[in-house]
This record gives sequence, structure tokens and C-alpha cells, in this order.
Amino acid sequence: TPLNLSGLGGLKWYRPLTVNDVLELKEKYPNAKLLVGNTEVGIEMRLKRMPYQVLISVAHVPELNIINVKDDGIEIGSAVRLTELLNLFREVITQRPANETSACKAFIEQLKWFAGTQIRNVASVGGNVCTASPISDLNPLWIAARAKFRIIDCNGNIRTTLAENFFLGYRKVDLTSNEILLSIFLPWTRPFEYVKEFKQAHRRDDDIAIVTAGMRVCLQEKSEEWVISDASVAYGGVAPLSLCAIKTKEFLIGKKWNQDVLQGALNVLQTDIVLKEDAPGGMVEFRKSLTLSFFFKFFLWVSHQIE
Ligand code: FAD
Repeated sequence: TPLNLSGLGGLKWYRPLTVNDVLELKEKYPNAKLLVGNTEVGIEMRLKRMPYQVLISVAHVPELNIINVKDDGIEIGSAVRLTELLNLFREVITQRPANETSACKAFIEQLKWFAGTQIRNVASVGGNVCTASPISDLNPLWIAARAKFRIIDCNGNIRTTLAENFFLGYRKVDLTSNEILLSIFLPWTRPFEYVKEFKQAHRRDDDIAIVTAGMRVCLQEKSEEWVISDASVAYGGVAPLSLCAIKTKEFLIGKKWNQDVLQGALNVLQTDIVLKEDAPGGMVEFRKSLTLSFFFKFFLWVSHQIE
């Protein structure tokens, strides 16, 4: 049943059961916070003393919990929990042709190192996307994997945007106060399209990243050589937002996949991802070298796939 509770200091907590009710509440309270796992908002309210007045728990809204495996990819509701997402990808890779699930495999690997079991059991994919943490482990992967976000407004209008264009600044995303994230669409990878995840943290288990990344190339065989027809290189932990290495992407497209392209891309990356000496987070030299070594690892991994 839907619930509506009031707490001390005027705090209101709602548990609607349809997306229409969520949107109605959001229209009435544009500054309301949506909750699924409460693993971000709980910390903001308790430790950072953020005075949110209206909370809308959307964990039980069926439209936000959909999982649709389609011909062109998977649609994932924004309230789907990370454990469910991991199980979904594990199932999908046994059912679809291997070349379609390169991104799914990258997500499986990245999710293994995302927080711990308890957090993954309650935390949602939409909560991670909309918090837009600069060190989100998943957002660089959504960008690299060409994911699309479906957004619904209070009048029921739906628009779609590429993950690549969704992150605007420090914890700032392309959502107005009368919009919510409905779902994420992850397309299948094409033949000879490869997606890979990267994360470096102090500990392997349950630790936030120092640098994370998602990378993708699509290769085509031309006169016995591999040519890059599409690419995407996205990082977390190097800027206030999940960042696309645009110049590197442009450099890669059209080039042959060989040692020269590796050297060239490493050079371009150094001008693409710039960390100032006093960048928040420190460890500037280490983070710079991680951005390069991730690409180096990616190059070796892809080369091995096409051997
Ligand atoms: P909630 O706290 O419920 O909501 C988060 C925010 O998203 C709110 O502002 C809410 O308004 C907004 N929101 C939620 N759904 C929607 C929607 N449909 N439309 C619009 N806005 C929406 N993150 C990592 O990336 N990697 C880690 O390794 C990691 N480890 C963690 C470890 C711990 C111990 C903790 C506490 C957190 C960790 N996190 C990590 C961060 C966090 O767990 C994730 O970001 C998680 O996915 C948030 O999901 P949630 O459902 O709990 O979000």
C-alpha cells in the first residue's frame, strides 16, 4: 500500500506505488529527494546534515523496476538494484551471442568491486547515475557503452539523452526539478566492438575509486588490417564529473589498430585529461599515470581479443 508519514521538523516521507503518483508528488514538491537504497541520501542527511524536507521512496514503483531484454539491447528501470543488475548481466551473457555482451561483461567485472554486498543489495542504478559522483564506478561505463537515459517529466513526456551528454558538472545532471530518470537503455555491442572497465582503489574490496574508466572501440577489418570505426574513452576521478576524453576519441576514429595508434593516443590523452597540481583529491601524478596505464591495458586487452 502507498504510505505517507510525517516526522519531526515537518519532514514528509512518501511511498507511492505508480510512476504517475511519483510524478504528481514531484510536481507538488519539486525539491523532493527520490530514494531507493538511501545509501547516498542517508549519508547526506545524517553526516552532512542536509535538511531535505520531502522524501519519496520509489523502490516499489513497478515502472521503475522493469527489466526488458530486447532485440537491440536491455532496458533497465532506474530503481533496479545493483545486485539485480549483476544477476541480470550474468544471465544475459549465457543467453546472447558473445559479441553482443561485451559491455555486460564489463559491468559484471565493475560491479564485483562496487561497495559490498549489503550496499549492492539496496543501492539502485538510478541513484548512482543521478547522484553523479565524480568517482562513480558505473557512469564512465554507461558513457563508454553508448547507453541512453530515458527521462520522464511531470506531464508524462519522455525524452532520451545519451549518457555522454547527461553529466554537466559537479553532481549536476541534465534533469530539471520536474523530471526523473525513468530507465537506462544499454545497447548490445556489435561484432568486433569491445568494452572494458577499469578501477583503481586503495583496497580491492569495498573502497571508493582513485580513478575509474570505461573504454570502447569498434573495429573493422580492411585489407587484413583493423581500423577503428568508433571509440569512447571515459574516466571518473580526474575531474568534477565523469569525463569523456573527446580529443582521444576523435584521434582514434579512422586510425589503424597498431602500436602507432597506442603511442599517439597516449600523447593525446595527456592533453585531453588535465589535472592541475592542486586538483581536489591529491595524488595528481598517480592519477595522471593511471589514466594512461588504463588505456595501455585496454590496448593490450583488445589486441588479445582480435588475435
Ligand atoms: P539514494 O540514496 O536512494 O538516492 C540517491 C540520489 O539519486 C538522490 O538524490 C535521489 O533524488 C536521486 N535519484 C534516485 N533515483 C532517481 C530517479 N529515478 N530520478 C531522479 N533522481 C533519482 N558508489 C560507487 O560508484 N562505487 C562504489 O564503490 C560505492 N561504494 C559505496 C560504499 C558505501 C559504504 C556507500 C554508503 C556508498 C557507496 N557508493 C558507491 C555510493 C552509492 O552507494 C551509489 O551511488 C548508489 O548506487 C546510490 O543508490 P541509492 O539507491 O542508494 O541512492
